[in-house]
Amino acid sequence: MSSKEKLKDYQEKRDFRRTPEPAAGAGKAADRPIFVVQKHAARHLHYDFRLEVEGVLKSWAVPKGPSTDPKEKRLAVPTEDHPLEYADFEGVIPEGEYGAGTVLVWDTGPYRNLTEKKGKPVPMEEAVTHGHVKVWLEGKKLKGGYALTRFRTGKDEAWLLVKADDEEADARRNPVNTEPESVLSGRTIEDIEAAAKKGGY
Ligand code: MN
Repeated sequence: MSSKEKLKDYQEKRDFRRTPEPAAGAGKAADRPIFVVQKHAARHLHYDFRLEVEGVLKSWAVPKGPSTDPKEKRLAVPTEDHPLEYADFEGVIPEGEYGAGTVLVWDTGPYRNLTEKKGKPVPMEEAVTHGHVKVWLEGKKLKGGYALTRFRTGKDEAWLLVKADDEEADARRNPVNTEPESVLSGRTIEDIEAAAKKGGY
């Protein structure tokens, strides 16, 4: 499937005359694939966890956000593929539009695919299809291994996002609460809302 086909859902849910979100464009891939976690203060606050895979951002909504504690299992509900351009989107999605609310880039950086099956590397797209993904994140807030595991399929498909028990694990950190700002702009959700009210970004 081409990126354009994968992004059909994304395009259909949005009116690009109304939302400041990017329409799917050419999608410039970086040298290394990236991950991004976007804090999304919508009707229910959540964190969108996205991994660049074959020209799109594979996406999961994580209500409680990622943890740095390997004992914490965080629910991750898959959402539609997003365009690569979405990775640096911050702003306010207006009332009445899909995902209405405020978005900031909570963390981002390159990642490495660590997924293996019987000792052999599994390509990312296959790992996502099979529901077993292991990645190494090199973000500003999130570092080290994370596992994404599907535990329910069908209409209510659901996954768990769990920190691997490695040298970057730290049960005492709680970055979702202690580091709320954007890693791109240093702004909080409130800062972005205030800027939008003044007609800016
Ligand atoms: Mn969201």
